[in-house]
Amino acid sequence: MLKEFQRTNLTCPECRGPISEFRQGAISEFRCRVGHQYSPETFLAAHADTRERTLCAAVVALEEGADVARELAATAASDVQHRLEEEAGTNARAAAKIREVLAVLTQEQSRQFTKEAQGLPLKDKLV
Ligand SMILES: [Zn+2]
Repeated sequence: MLKEFQRTNLTCPECRGPISEFRQGAISEFRCRVGHQYSPETFLAAHADTRERTLCAAVVALEEGADVARELAATAASDVQHRLEEEAGTNARAAAKIREVLAVLTQEQSRQFTKEAQGLPLKDKLV
């Protein structure tokens, strides 16, 4: 029997392509255009990994932006120096906020893994 997948507004955590869902009673399966397939549990875990990688990339970009602005400020003309220092500070503060978000998400994920290790069903793990 051919499974009938319905398009969703979700994207594949691996390739970012559109995701379709097959649902039959309590059984659910996700598949993207490329062919990556997920159960609800692996879909959620893959999205958590993608989210973490994306946030880490943002931290790197912002902290590097702060470093570049500080480095340029050190040798810049005085009229530009202040603007570069402000830009460095803005980047550094944004990176620090994302680091806080990452810390919260990591704590939450660790709590869920603890529940999983205790053998609770997925719907209870998400509460
Ligand atoms: Zn995919």
